[in-house]
Amino acid sequence: MNLQVLIVGAGPAGLVLACDLARRGVTARLVDKAPSYFLGSRGDGLQPRTLEVFDDLGVLDAILEAGGTAPLTRVYDGAEVVAEMRMAEPTEPTPDVPYPNLWFVPQFRTEEILRARLVELGGRVELATELVAFTQDADGVTATLRHDGVDEVVRVDYLVGADGGKSTVRKQAGIEFVGDTDETITAMLADVRVDGLDPAYGYAWVTGGIALSPLAGTDLFTLTGQPPADGSPVTSELLQGLVDDASGRTDIRIREVVWATVWRANVRVASRFQEGRVLLVGDAAQVCPPTGGQGLNTGVQDSYNLGWKLAGPRELVDTYAAEREPIARGVLDLAARALRRHVDGDEDAHQRGAEFHQLALNYRGGPLSRDDRSTPGPVRAGDRAPDAPCQEDGEPVRLFDLFRGPGWTVLELRDGEVIAGDRTLLDVDGHARAAYGAEGFVLVRPDGYIGLTTDDRDAVGEYLEAGTLAVSR
Ligand SMILES: Cc1cc2nc3c(=O)[nH]c(=O)nc-3n(C[C@H](O)[C@H](O)[C@H](O)COP(=O)(O)OP(=O)(O)OC[C@H]3O[C@@H](n4cnc5c(N)ncnc54)[C@H](O)[C@@H]3O)c2cc1C
Repeated sequence: MNLQVLIVGAGPAGLVLACDLARRGVTARLVDKAPSYFLGSRGDGLQPRTLEVFDDLGVLDAILEAGGTAPLTRVYDGAEVVAEMRMAEPTEPTPDVPYPNLWFVPQFRTEEILRARLVELGGRVELATELVAFTQDADGVTATLRHDGVDEVVRVDYLVGADGGKSTVRKQAGIEFVGDTDETITAMLADVRVDGLDPAYGYAWVTGGIALSPLAGTDLFTLTGQPPADGSPVTSELLQGLVDDASGRTDIRIREVVWATVWRANVRVASRFQEGRVLLVGDAAQVCPPTGGQGLNTGVQDSYNLGWKLAGPRELVDTYAAEREPIARGVLDLAARALRRHVDGDEDAHQRGAEFHQLALNYRGGPLSRDDRSTPGPVRAGDRAPDAPCQEDGEPVRLFDLFRGPGWTVLELRDGEVIAGDRTLLDVDGHARAAYGAEGFVLVRPDGYIGLTTDDRDAVGEYLEAGTLAVSR
């Protein structure tokens, strides 16, 4: 069988893309050079928009079960609690935003859940398989994979670099990674097993500048602090010393260091996300500081934007970069500003408000967005398609239930009803009208963004038939 896509890198971005392609019947391989799965907590803050993608991919229940909202952190000065704070205050769902809260799941757990979903969909991760070289021509990409010292040459339609900040794909495609690494801004992170702390709370000590946050769904805490000035390795003795000095307590005992890293402020974006038949997603395309919790989330959105396009014609694939590059620049700017506030000592720098949720990011004005309504409605082409609770035969149904799955959804709004194919939903409390307008047609893309708003039924057909989209329906 002709292999359509080679995905290099089985982090969150590669896994999301592999799941999306598998459910569309696109033949793909997902390879990772690592000999075993990654163990660290890293990106543990899942933004509301990521939860919506996970709903569509069929992993949301597992993700919700595996995590929790931000814990309450007790801030100590020595032995005295001087403040209590939460990174984000939980809020109630609204009709259009069913998952409004930042949800904490350690990255290794998120990856585990995505891998399990990929297996359900008939795919798998090929470990210890490294992309070492590739060439491309007008029809495809020829890539060399190395496994156990043996080279294998594969021919694919597209190569996707989901291979992280140091991306081999990006480098070999000759794409620049524009931005800065500021060696003066560093942080040490370590996932530890520790006795003497209540996992219902986070702990921070102003004197000593360290924090210990429980990792949802595990018996681990993540310790954050400044790395040793002399560059010595992060050991449990070193961490124990920091905890003892900051807390003045003797009952907090570090039992085991499961994963540790020293992080440097890195803000970079690829000069382009596509070079012919080679595309970049996730950290291969942009890296941002952890302030604001955008990195993993942005990679998930990259892959979700690209997946349905790879199932379509070349013209559709070519819209990926135009839609995602501006988003990357905005996200980097947001995360960099949050980092600056943190460095400047702003105590609220870690408070994560709605601008971090990624719900308002949109593709307005992009190559696939068309507004044809005579009177503009509450949503515009390119916006995220909001949810709305309705009824079908007296039973509650959400618009997100209609959107779930790999296809397009045409919504017709008329007389307090929403019609989608052969389904008629009653807009009982007017939430769909409030979100989409009282009448007209709204075409929702496979990735949950609005492609077209129009008053004219024929325009829907024309939009879908327009060569670039026909195959991807
Ligand atoms: C300390 C820290 C805290 C963070 N906190 C957050 C947070 O709160 N929220 C958030 O959203 N993000 C956070 N992030 C960022 C997040 O971890 C990354 O954005 C995310 O891991 C990127 O996913 P990815 O799939 O693009 O790449 P990665 O997870 O880096 O995966 C890339 C994969 O590619 C493989 N690979 C590389 N080269 C090759 C090759 N040549 N051949 C085959 N395989 C290859 C690697 O082995 C790796 O498995 C944090 C990161 C760090 C370091």
